[in-house]
Amino acid sequence: MTRRTYLDYNATAPLKPAVADAVRQALLIGGNPSSVHHWGRAARQVLEEARRHVAVAVNAKPSQVIFTSGGTEANALALHGVSAARILASAIEHPSIVSERCPVERLPVTADGVLALDGLDRVLNESRSDRPAMIAVMLANNETGVVQPMADVVHLARAAGALVHCDAVQGFGKMAIDFSALGVDTLSLSAHKIGAPSGVGALVVRDGLALNAQQMGGGQELRRRAGTENVAGIAGFGAAAALVGADLGRAPLWAEWRDWLEARITAIAPDVRIFGKGVARLPNTSCFATPNVRGETQVMALDLSGIGVSSGAACSSGKVERSRVLDAMGVSPSESACAIRVSMGWNTKADDIDHFVEAWDALWQRTRLSSRQAQVAA
Ligand code: PLP
Repeated sequence: MTRRTYLDYNATAPLKPAVADAVRQALLIGGNPSSVHHWGRAARQVLEEARRHVAVAVNAKPSQVIFTSGGTEANALALHGVSAARILASAIEHPSIVSERCPVERLPVTADGVLALDGLDRVLNESRSDRPAMIAVMLANNETGVVQPMADVVHLARAAGALVHCDAVQGFGKMAIDFSALGVDTLSLSAHKIGAPSGVGALVVRDGLALNAQQMGGGQELRRRAGTENVAGIAGFGAAAALVGADLGRAPLWAEWRDWLEARITAIAPDVRIFGKGVARLPNTSCFATPNVRGETQVMALDLSGIGVSSGAACSSGKVERSRVLDAMGVSPSESACAIRVSMGWNTKADDIDHFVEAWDALWQRTRLSSRQAQVAA
């Protein structure tokens, strides 16, 4: 039987068993949390307990947590619910923030994938208006794991009277998050990145921020997000949020394994380029390019060996697209086409990394052999 090793936690984390139990129990309640009877009250209790767990996990108040259908909706609610005069966002934000169709001013990043702070104050102070500007910067990047300088961003934004939105979807469960210490106005979270079901997330909103609901309907979530709540999914989110502390306890191990993996592959193929290696990164993520071996080829060959990783960003259409993140870092299209991302999580074991390195080594040796044979034949 093929041994299976999942190393694509930044795309989604496998469901945790305790979370599956919480979801199942909540599904069996059957009430609408807005109803006043026994079943409604039971559903409401589950919802509010989950809200407490999510709030505690990021050091926020339960009243600051708005449940959404995921990170994408949380980002949209922050960007469009606050009527900012202009929106500035780092060029490496998730497509739910920066896309071709969204009128967002893009801020450059360095070759290491860190938001370039030089000149940010000048850009923020351009075109003053009676409404504040909003700047959106993610806590950590989904492809490279590079952690962004949030404290500096908040400092510069405050000086310019701008609001700050932080997409913390990838940081959650991989680095400590303190909403009140971060000082941002809004912060997005997604349940499926921490071992809960997909289709659930939250926007954490600072007290006093005016936020317009983006959907017409009922007065759920203190009138900030209409629609009957996904009680079972939220119960799972709460259960997973309560386990985030345990994940963070494993983070030093992930960093050790990531460094070992990177040392091994660069010993095998010294021309491998690891993105963001010299700067602060999430402990679980490694993104690297292997010269002349396309990312899709690596993903497919590794899949045949039972290993799940991704090339560039996990694309919802299933197509492989050029990575916008690596583009923004100035990586050439030919090098970016050879990049893959390995990401660990709550159920990763040390021998999963051995499995990866063995399979990757075999792939590399095969590729070298066939390119030598091609040279001889030419
Ligand atoms: N933001 C980031 C940084 C992400 O990586 C993702 C998902 O990959 C999202 C937002 C979207 O979250 P969701 O899948 O819950 O809509």
